[in-house]
Amino acid sequence: MIVEDERYMLEEIQTYLQREGFQVHTCQNGREALELAQLEQPELVVLDWMLPEKSGLDVCRELRQISNCGIIMVTARSEESDKIVGLEIGADDYLTKPFSLRELSTRIRALLRRLHGAENKPQILKRGNLTISEAKCQVYKDDQEIQLTPTEFKHIGCTSWHCF
Ligand code: CA
Repeated sequence: MIVEDERYMLEEIQTYLQREGFQVHTCQNGREALELAQLEQPELVVLDWMLPEKSGLDVCRELRQISNCGIIMVTARSEESDKIVGLEIGADDYLTKPFSLRELSTRIRALLRRLHGAENKPQILKRGNLTISEAKCQVYKDDQEIQLTPTEFKHIGCTSWHCF
């Protein structure tokens, strides 16, 4: 999702990223950005700092409360303090205008890789007296392993049952 109030720039970014194979949603102000984020659940948001209705900083702060999506803050200001504030309130990366579309695309891919890497870490879930190792596709009840079929395993919410 791209949030940018300068229409020309927004269109340019959209065209470039679509050509790169991304599915792109766009909007031009901060209020719409939050509505669209809830509706479309974007994987990653490129967020301009200076926006009408609600600043990119406020959007970032509120977005962090409802979503784990990647956030790249974009600003025309290059002060170090801005960058620190942006990262402190939950932005994952920071880009200063003017930037090349190629750089934006590279940063997006890098952040998506980071986000997917975090998702793929082995997960141990605990539900009551059950322990579920998603990475190993094993389930333990009170520390005793339970034998489950792949279908049963799938039904208890394991997302990595492709290992069968
Ligand atoms: Ca702007």
